[in-house]
Amino acid sequence: MQLAHGAVETPCFMPVGTAATVKGLTPAELRAAQTQVVLANTYHLWLRPGLDTIEAAGGIHRFMAWDGPILTDSGGFQVFSLESRRRIDDDGVTFASHLDGSEHRFTPENVVAFQQRIGSDVAMVLDVCVKLPASHEELEGAVRLTTAWARRSSAVAVHAQTKLFAIVQGGLDAALRERSARDVIELDFPGYAIGGLSVGETREAMYAMARSTAALLPADKPRYLMGVGTMRDCIAAIDCGVDCFDSVYPTRCGRNGRAMTRGGELNLFNAAFVRDFSPLDPSCDCPTCTAYTRAYLAHCFRSKEMLGPRLLSYHNVYALNALMREARDAIGAGQWETFKARTTLAQSSQSSG
Ligand SMILES: [Zn+2]
Repeated sequence: MQLAHGAVETPCFMPVGTAATVKGLTPAELRAAQTQVVLANTYHLWLRPGLDTIEAAGGIHRFMAWDGPILTDSGGFQVFSLESRRRIDDDGVTFASHLDGSEHRFTPENVVAFQQRIGSDVAMVLDVCVKLPASHEELEGAVRLTTAWARRSSAVAVHAQTKLFAIVQGGLDAALRERSARDVIELDFPGYAIGGLSVGETREAMYAMARSTAALLPADKPRYLMGVGTMRDCIAAIDCGVDCFDSVYPTRCGRNGRAMTRGGELNLFNAAFVRDFSPLDPSCDCPTCTAYTRAYLAHCFRSKEMLGPRLLSYHNVYALNALMREARDAIGAGQWETFKARTTLAQSSQSSG
């Protein structure tokens, strides 16, 4: 992907910086961990610090001191998870802030305008995301509005530096997914996301729907699967034909003592690690794995030392980015099937520690 703040090699994972910060990691650390794109959330930034402050700071890149590409979501996912605190109509959605209860309104137009004005490299259209399981009527309504809103979004003038991606909805209904994809492809966006998955359905159902939806999307444009970030899911998503994904998973796990390794995930609170002086992941060459032992990391978490979450978040992001780099190399060398089989086997043989 050629974006205003640099080229992005795909497949790639995008760490989530909800409030213009990837929790616990500095931009220099993100860079060193080979992060290519950072995701930020329109909903959170809209409420705090707000558009005026970000514009006064010179845009989102300067504000958070990250000079690489930034993708912002539309806020749709957050607003629709508010459930009792939002009212949706054909024109947009009105919601109460989770911070102070103040009332706000998102429309397809003002959400795109916000993302342009803060200087996002990739902006997402406002969509309607439905929690699964959902009735056919609900899913159908979400697809209808998502298409109508995508059309209105594409009519908003987008600065050359901001690429606007559309979102395909439709839950687990293949026919609705197809209709949603067809509708937005007609509007000719520079990239497409598969939304509304990873929201409560089984892994198998998610993979099947991601695969059939990705196959409907143009091969020469980025395909983005929203909300995926375990090693196993990223490998599966690439296999489905997806180019990029995002999730809070690696940093959330990093804060909670859960290590993502090639051999599966480890819970550092397990008693077994208290006197385990081996590296966190022997196959990883990140600063956490080369300098510290599992025993030390386990100690940091048990003692609630802030270094523990920092070191583990770094490792998790680094390890996922390294996996993506190897996936790119394997695809380039025509070795994808071998790489996939090896990685998937290692992930499933030891899924939790
Ligand atoms: Zn590591």
